[in-house]
Amino acid sequence: MMKFEDFQISNEIKKAIKDMGFEAPSPIQERVIPEILKRVDVIGQAQTGTGKTAAFGIPLIERVDQSKNIQSLILTPTRELAIQVAGELQKLSKYKKVQTLPIYGGQSIGHQIRALKRGVQVVVGTPGRVLDHLNRGTLKLQNVHTLILDEADEMLDMGFIDDIEKILQQVNRERQTMLFSATMPPPIRKLSNKYMKQPKQITISKGEVTAPSINQVYYKVLEKNKIDSLCRVIDSETIDLGIIFCRTKKGVAELTEALQARGYMADGLHGDLTQSQRDSVMKKFRDSTIEFLIATDVAARGIDVDKVSHVINYDIPQDPESYVHRIGRTGRAGREGFALTLVTPREMKHLRSIEAEIKMAIPSQGLPSVEEVVEKQQHTWKQQIIDLMEESETSSLYDELVTELLQDYPPEKVVSSLMKLAFYSHTDLEDDGYDFGDTGAQKGMTRFFINVGRNVELTPKKIVEEVSQLVGISQKAIGRIDIFDNFTFIEVPEEVAPFVYEGLKYSRLNGARINLEPAKPRPKRK
Ligand code: ADP
Ligand code: MG
Repeated sequence: MMKFEDFQISNEIKKAIKDMGFEAPSPIQERVIPEILKRVDVIGQAQTGTGKTAAFGIPLIERVDQSKNIQSLILTPTRELAIQVAGELQKLSKYKKVQTLPIYGGQSIGHQIRALKRGVQVVVGTPGRVLDHLNRGTLKLQNVHTLILDEADEMLDMGFIDDIEKILQQVNRERQTMLFSATMPPPIRKLSNKYMKQPKQITISKGEVTAPSINQVYYKVLEKNKIDSLCRVIDSETIDLGIIFCRTKKGVAELTEALQARGYMADGLHGDLTQSQRDSVMKKFRDSTIEFLIATDVAARGIDVDKVSHVINYDIPQDPESYVHRIGRTGRAGREGFALTLVTPREMKHLRSIEAEIKMAIPSQGLPSVEEVVEKQQHTWKQQIIDLMEESETSSLYDELVTELLQDYPPEKVVSSLMKLAFYSHTDLEDDGYDFGDTGAQKGMTRFFINVGRNVELTPKKIVEEVSQLVGISQKAIGRIDIFDNFTFIEVPEEVAPFVYEGLKYSRLNGARINLEPAKPRPKRK
């Protein structure tokens, strides 16, 4: 097995990768990074979620120096991706003074111009906005030695091909060019023939992956209350032994601590443990002294315990192979096995790509409601307060303040304000960055706008099928649908709205590229 340590990269970057919690390179990283380090042109083809960003990001940050000119340009299809890629590059350059700037439409160009003037080494941008800056002369590409086309097939789908060609023509020909894509349609191939120098093509084949017969479901969860959601899920299942998978070793450490604090018999397994520490955790698991083993994919390699009744993907696996490997840990020796996957809105598309690969739809299961999660939290809070009252002497430090407050306000109000102060950050369950505001929907619903309608032969039936399948709700739960010539409105239940949003924005309906966004409230009738 290959390690990040094995790459010819500086210690600053190795340290940053470690901080990001990556344990071992993904297959595409393992094969692409050494090639890019040789400075040849590379085409990398692999499914989404397989770590293509770090595959080019690591050698890119390695090569860029601290001189204040733009040395690398990355083109991405959307502003979200530009921001995401820039974020990952910033993490990789944590110990190296390299500035990365995302530039995209919709943000004030003046702000971007000022940031560019200050001097950055890496620019990540959408083709339209990059071209805009080139035309204004505010983006200088003569020192660019590394050019990356990320998610090339998406850029093609979005109609950026001409813009990309115009940009490519303005970059130093003595450059290294990399192209990453999940698929390789002919126009992309043509582009690479024209603008790349004998590219080395690396394809991580999908392989034939079939999921064993294990009961599989997924739960829709919000990032913010993921731990509580997990607890609800495991409380409602009869679990013999469970393996809970996290993406990173940091994730393993955090979740282990959180579960132990909540009284679960759990311990973590990750690549940093010594052999004897690892053996001791494994022994506890085999003896059923602990009920849950929390692990990364790497750490779980080779674990072969018959009694595992549940595999829980706390973090969704990176690729279908890993999904299949993980769930294969249960249902052994003729026993019944369960595989439960938690999916956040941002992971909806990834879930769908896994389903496509394993050629089966994973059914969605209703998560214990937000109210139930809150109820459980309240129980925990109550216990914490009682514990505090019982274990400690009341501090006289606050006596005066207490008397004062109780003179002026009713005790109920004082207590509830204090609780808000103490627990507030856990309370705003709704806020996960998905406050769609007033969308003009009926109560309890969220209304979305879709930029296609009858022009792509969209019908209510089609859209109801798509949405109900996407988020695993009954067709009846979907509210009002209004299809017009060029656009559509649809109402969906509030609790699934973030999942519909992440699953359908920039996707396809009836073969047409669509965009979906929260609707604006209807104008008030006089
Ligand atoms: P892609 O571009 O192939 O769709 P990304 O680069 O966006 O995939 O990576 C998907 C997720 O996997 C990101 O959250 C990223 O931080 C994480 N990731 C990438 N490489 C690794 C790794 N070697 N180990 C663990 N997580 C990784
Ligand atoms: Mg990507």
